[in-house]
Amino acid sequence: AAFLAPQTAAPQTVAPGNAKPPPSNLLYFYDAISPIVAADSIDREVAYEAARYGVGGADYLNCPLTREEYQRFREALLAGERYPLHDFESANYFEGCLPIEELAERGEDTLRFGPMRPVGLRDPRTGRRPFAVVQLRQENRGPDGRPTMYNLVGFQTRLRRADQARALRLIPGLGRVEILRYGSVHQNTFLTAPLLLEATLQFRGDPGILFGGQITGVEGYLESAATGLLAGLNAVRLATGAALLRPPRTSMLGGLLHYLTTASPAAFQPINANFGLLPVLPQAVRGRQERNRLLVARAQADFRIWQSAVR
Ligand SMILES: Cc1cc2nc3c(=O)[nH]c(=O)nc-3n(C[C@H](O)[C@H](O)[C@H](O)COP(=O)(O)OP(=O)(O)OC[C@H]3O[C@@H](n4cnc5c(N)ncnc54)[C@H](O)[C@@H]3O)c2cc1C
Repeated sequence: AAFLAPQTAAPQTVAPGNAKPPPSNLLYFYDAISPIVAADSIDREVAYEAARYGVGGADYLNCPLTREEYQRFREALLAGERYPLHDFESANYFEGCLPIEELAERGEDTLRFGPMRPVGLRDPRTGRRPFAVVQLRQENRGPDGRPTMYNLVGFQTRLRRADQARALRLIPGLGRVEILRYGSVHQNTFLTAPLLLEATLQFRGDPGILFGGQITGVEGYLESAATGLLAGLNAVRLATGAALLRPPRTSMLGGLLHYLTTASPAAFQPINANFGLLPVLPQAVRGRQERNRLLVARAQADFRIWQSAVR
């Protein structure tokens, strides 16, 4: 939804189609979402840092596969159950962003000449080029500069979640990986938020227009409702001259907004609420459950303080 907040009148909701449109190449109609995994769940003994042909800095990790590991992974993709297409979705868009299971189906080598191609990715520890490689790209940078999330490059998929997890955990280095966002490919209209939106959900092209819901690049009911509520509140505050709201960075809504406004525009795809969006804890914590419990406690405490200060 888009909210129009003129200074002189009460805000009104307007259909996205009636608002001043963003440039068409910054509005997407399908997502092609690759899984995102937690940085601290990747086995760094196996995954190695290398950018293809050494270009692109140390933003990439690479999981090397032998021929046998590659074949086992491909078989898992082929055996996986897929989410069916809905009537309103057509398979035409697939050519530009084929799901990995479709590539696997096309032939034994299609994947390793596609997203799993190993050229230019010599393993510095062996000096050899692996049979195939899964590349992981840093998805974010925490306040301390360390990434908390990695994206599997070119790994959009329509596999059901359980089958997706089963296949991904066959990849060397990802045996115990925590999946923060599952892959998907479906119809979805969303803005290139990092170029178009402020953290207040104002449209950069016209700060009197605010966006909420999944058009902002969030995914899911809760995320859509939360951004919709914030956009609505900010529209009213804009119209009444009050300061606009920005929830704390350590809260899930703050984490989502931070991602929407700072992610790489070129690779931007919608995101759901997940722990990887939150800044890492200052202290070392043993165990994922305990880490998540502390992240929730910090988020709730910071959110309450912020909320009580809002006028
Ligand atoms: C099949 C499917 C299953 C899902 N399952 C889950 C789930 O289990 N859990 C979960 O959290 N999320 C799920 N989601 C995602 C979730 O549905 C969305 O993220 C959420 O509904 C988005 O809410 P929204 O209000 O932003 O957008 P929408 O619900 O898409 O609402 C946008 C509204 O705007 C209207 N509209 C569009 N263009 C115009 C126009 N020009 N003029 C007037 N009106 C217009 C549309 O008709 C629609 O009513 C699912 C999505 C799909 C497609």
